Amino acid sequence: MYSISLVPGDGIGPELADAAEGALRAACGAAGVGIAVTRVAAGDAALESKGSALPASSLEAIRSSDACLKAPVGESARDVIVFLRRELDLYANIRPARSYPGMPALRDDIDLVIVRENTEDVYTGGEVDLGGAGVALRTVSERASERIARCAFEEARARAGKARVTCVHKSNVMRVTDGIFSRACARVASEYADVRFDEMYVDACAMNLIREPQKFDVIVTTNMFGDILSDESAQAAGGLGMAPAANIGDKAAIFEPVHGAAFDIAGTRSANPSSFILSACMMLDWLARTRRDGRCAQASSRLSSAVLSMVAGGAKTRDVGGGLTTAEFADGVASRAA
Ligand code: ATP
Repeated sequence: MYSISLVPGDGIGPELADAAEGALRAACGAAGVGIAVTRVAAGDAALESKGSALPASSLEAIRSSDACLKAPVGESARDVIVFLRRELDLYANIRPARSYPGMPALRDDIDLVIVRENTEDVYTGGEVDLGGAGVALRTVSERASERIARCAFEEARARAGKARVTCVHKSNVMRVTDGIFSRACARVASEYADVRFDEMYVDACAMNLIREPQKFDVIVTTNMFGDILSDESAQAAGGLGMAPAANIGDKAAIFEPVHGAAFDIAGTRSANPSSFILSACMMLDWLARTRRDGRCAQASSRLSSAVLSMVAGGAKTRDVGGGLTTAEFADGVASRAA
């Protein structure tokens, strides 16, 4: 039995959590995976009702669960997910972008993954208001750069795809910080003779993700560049509604969509739950790998195949050119995965 902490979050979050929980239960039931799901309050709603965006009881519930599945939170994201990434040392943010048949993608052969360093850069909260000017602190260490590079090379090996890692940075301008990052990646590359390694400036990468996204395999980059490029690659592959992600550390992991709380469509019943359901697949794959449990891999495969068969058959939500509501889509996934 696996304990799963489920954060419903804000905006479209609770709609996604409600819809995806049924699909997750159906797939796990069919594969013989026992799960106990506990809902955990975090985000803007928790701040309003409990006085804290991440109450101590929520942090404890996340810590003590086997894995956490998290919907997006709103304005308090920095106090929730940015805090959790550092607190639990979830140093690798894995963001796959894949164009599935039936998606409004730039091309139908996109299959890449962004491996984003998750604990450093300008996202550590080191900002100073000097009155009339502001200063942000950018931290990039050799240790964190090497461990994210290693994670990227392992990912390239495990994917059995093009076996290529592209290190994305801007070391011609940020010579110290990105110099450390690019040299660390090159050092780690020398340990992986079977994986091709190259480097690209972030602006060129942003262009190439539109021009020839099919050529990428694994992109490894720093925190903020990874945040921006992963929205771009998600859109290139069909849209944020299809984009899952994982925050992985050595002892814990949190799975969540790439997108935010999307307040503009909250309550319209049109949000695409695929991003959340595919995040649940990444959670099951992680449990399969870390607990050596083949049933979790089976549940993941049932769930992802169900999503693919829905969209390939034209049963889609509005963002990707269909007319199904969030619940209709998720119910369809659940019945196919069962
Ligand atoms: P953040 O900065 O927190 O990532 P954001 O302001 O970039 O948030 P998102 O919430 O990520 O905005 O969403 C951007 C747009 O993409 C939304 O306005 C919404 O229209 C669309 N979108 C995001 N997620 C989904 C989804 N699951 N289904 C349908 N549309 C979505």
